[in-house]
Amino acid sequence: MTSQHLDLADLELGELEKALEALGIERFHARQLYRWIYRRGTVDFELMTDLSRTLRTRFREEFLVSTPRIVTDERSVDGTRKFVLELADRRRIESVFIPDTPSMTFCISTQVGCAMSCGFCLTGKMGLVRNLMAGEIAGQVRVLAAATGLLDLPFNIVLMGMGEPLHNYDNTMKALRILHSEHGLAVSPRRVTLSTVGIVPGLERLAHEPMMPNLAVSLHATTDEQRTALVPPNKKYPLADILDACRRFPLKKRSRITFEYVMLDGVNDTPDDARRLVRLLAGIKAKVNLIPLNPAPGIPYDRPSDARVDRFAQILADRHITVSVRKSRGQDIRAACGQLIVEGGPKKTAAQQMALLLR
Ligand code: SAH
Repeated sequence: MTSQHLDLADLELGELEKALEALGIERFHARQLYRWIYRRGTVDFELMTDLSRTLRTRFREEFLVSTPRIVTDERSVDGTRKFVLELADRRRIESVFIPDTPSMTFCISTQVGCAMSCGFCLTGKMGLVRNLMAGEIAGQVRVLAAATGLLDLPFNIVLMGMGEPLHNYDNTMKALRILHSEHGLAVSPRRVTLSTVGIVPGLERLAHEPMMPNLAVSLHATTDEQRTALVPPNKKYPLADILDACRRFPLKKRSRITFEYVMLDGVNDTPDDARRLVRLLAGIKAKVNLIPLNPAPGIPYDRPSDARVDRFAQILADRHITVSVRKSRGQDIRAACGQLIVEGGPKKTAAQQMALLLR
């Protein structure tokens, strides 16, 4: 494989059609290629038997379809599977398959590492290594769907793996367009949830997207002081600005914004926190997803007792806020939220990168 090969994994259908035309090849072959790559999980042009031999040879000379390679596929006792995937430059990411929630869900990464440095998240400790390309984001879905036998079945996608999707906006949205193609996996945006720390300009862009995923906002605290301590980007995008952007966010009928709230024992899980949260969410079509901390080495917080979680949830429910408690899946294989990390650190520390980001 050389750089002369055009990587089809990174192309939307329209771009692939143009690339074919530029080579004097009829554009309808783009749909055939998409079907092979996405619906049948085949990236070897030789196996694409409805293409003429000449065309297959031509494609092999001109193109490649870079595909994340499965390094490990670990199974949790609860059926969750954590995949470590290696990319073309040998960087590694993690993607998780969560069965029966009740639907099938893929938890996908958008960056190698993350620059956000949230105090309770292991990925944040890695710092940002690099953005994933659109083809690498969509490629995770392609590889996991093939590995789990779901290429032809419906599944959900949550952008809740490594990275901050709105910090890699263009590639993330391009990946969703690639996955949406009816000639490929045909994933409806209604089956996709984008989770963000709340990068306000990104939220504003997202509000104008023709293909809008469901939105989840990682809130985690109810005062700016505490949120800045836990989620450093809050310094630049404080609570009021994020919640204003949420109030303005266009929602379809019956749809709501999910607010994720990691519960840290004795830190942000008191009845006062719950009551402040109710006040903050006034006027927003919201539901709250409480995530009792998944502890990990080097994370200086504890998971609260079930009783504390229930008391917090009850205060929200009494004020008519829909609340759910996220069941932690795959903890035994470190596949749960905030536990994704692969070795090979960045040049800059997470704190240095954060400083750059907030300049
Ligand atoms: N960067 C995005 C998506 C990645 S994380 C975001 O922040 O939303 C998905 C969710 O897992 C986020 O709400 C994140 O705050 C949460 N999370 C991170 N570390 C966690 C931990 N140790 N235990 C429980 N949830 C955690």
